[in-house]
Amino acid sequence: MYKRADVKVWFACNNLCDFCVQGDKRFRYKQRTLPEITQILDEEYKNGCLWVVFTGWEPTVHPNLIEAVRYAKNLGYLQIQIQSNGRNFAKEVYVDALIEAGVTEFGPSIHGFHPSTHDSQVHADGAWEEVIRGIVHLKKRWQMIVINSVITQSNYQEIPELAALLIRLWVQQFQFAFVHILWSAEVNKETVVPRKTDIMPYVYKALDLAKKHWVLVFTEAIPYCFMQWYEWAIAENMMPETTVVDAEYRTENYEDYRWSEGKAKHEKCVTCLKNSVCEGPWKEYPELYSWDEFHPITEET
Ligand code: SF4
Repeated sequence: MYKRADVKVWFACNNLCDFCVQGDKRFRYKQRTLPEITQILDEEYKNGCLWVVFTGWEPTVHPNLIEAVRYAKNLGYLQIQIQSNGRNFAKEVYVDALIEAGVTEFGPSIHGFHPSTHDSQVHADGAWEEVIRGIVHLKKRWQMIVINSVITQSNYQEIPELAALLIRLWVQQFQFAFVHILWSAEVNKETVVPRKTDIMPYVYKALDLAKKHWVLVFTEAIPYCFMQWYEWAIAENMMPETTVVDAEYRTENYEDYRWSEGKAKHEKCVTCLKNSVCEGPWKEYPELYSWDEFHPITEET
């Protein structure tokens, strides 16, 4: 796996998600210019990255994204991903231009099986429909599609149906990420954040379904004590070394950040067989719901 650079190109978005972890950056930061982006690409390439993920908020609203992708390709990046809310992939001309410029994989997000579940969380009417149209356009062009879905209070009961839909659409990979309680998600936590014990039966069904159909599936930010018999789906075990270039800081190694700052453990974790490999939950989760649901693993599965 190549070393990866997550490059945030733009702090604007055409959605306004209840669970957005970028908070009010759209009001505090201006867009990165093309020269600023190419400078970051140069630096991260020299730093050993061969995989770049253009992200943002929403990278597809940046007016120079296509030039930035072309620059990355000419520089020598071998894997170029657009991580997006997926709405602009509904425009076939735009998708063609991104492919022609050098994008090798597309990462649209979808947050519900029912259109209304998705649209009401991202606050954009018709957004679900656009994401699905985009996926269909990409499949017609034989593109690699890696879906991300945030698990929330509103959508967790739809997770198995959403998995079935993604399998029918022939996406190659999808991931269910537990909502990270920061910024907008923090503000809306009472209505957005579900309990992990409540979501797991639905997550297991989705994982079983994906496995049965040979589709790659992952979960993120769900520790081992909820994932017994499903450890194979824990995304943190598969993540490449990643540098994050955010608005106000650069994180050299995102895994180090997760272990040292982002995630948390409880004193009872020392008795758990998975303690040395488990990152624990995002630290904000037990602050909201306590550690009662976390039970150390004492027997290998
Ligand atoms: S180390 Fe803690 S959080 Fe991780 S699986 Fe064990 S009990 Fe759960």
